[in-house]
Amino acid sequence: MKFIADRTLGKLAKELRMLGYDTLYYRQEDIHQFIHIARQEERIIMTRNTKLALRRPKDRIITITEENPSRQLKEVIQKGGLSLDEESLFTRCLLCNMLLDNIPREKAAGKVPDFIFHQQKDFSRCPQCERIYWQGSHLENMQKKMHELFQISDRRLQIEKN
Ligand SMILES: [Zn+2]
Repeated sequence: MKFIADRTLGKLAKELRMLGYDTLYYRQEDIHQFIHIARQEERIIMTRNTKLALRRPKDRIITITEENPSRQLKEVIQKGGLSLDEESLFTRCLLCNMLLDNIPREKAAGKVPDFIFHQQKDFSRCPQCERIYWQGSHLENMQKKMHELFQISDRRLQIEKN
């Protein structure tokens, strides 16, 4: 499942990348090109434009109605039927959407704060922007947040089905 987010949904695009989903962030306003890319790359469109889904019934479009990025993420999880794959968490660069490469620990030396280097064992790097990532203590909090997000949405989906 791949996504393309319109220019109003930059934060949501990052959240989806954090979950490991291949998500393009389309910053321009050319709606035709936006749709064209989505079709060509078989991406699900995420937009705040409520008229788009009506005008383009053949395309897969998730219309986002929430303002807050966390709620928007919940909305995509529910409307898109996303499931949580913990193996995919933090495998993608939040800025470039590229899959991260694991790097030997010594390659991170001098490129991350010293205390991080001493605390962490595993580092990965974006092949495009060369930003270095590590799984800090935030990972546990993030996983907790994700569990909450997905459990809540599972429950809601069940209620809707019943
Ligand atoms: Zn990057």
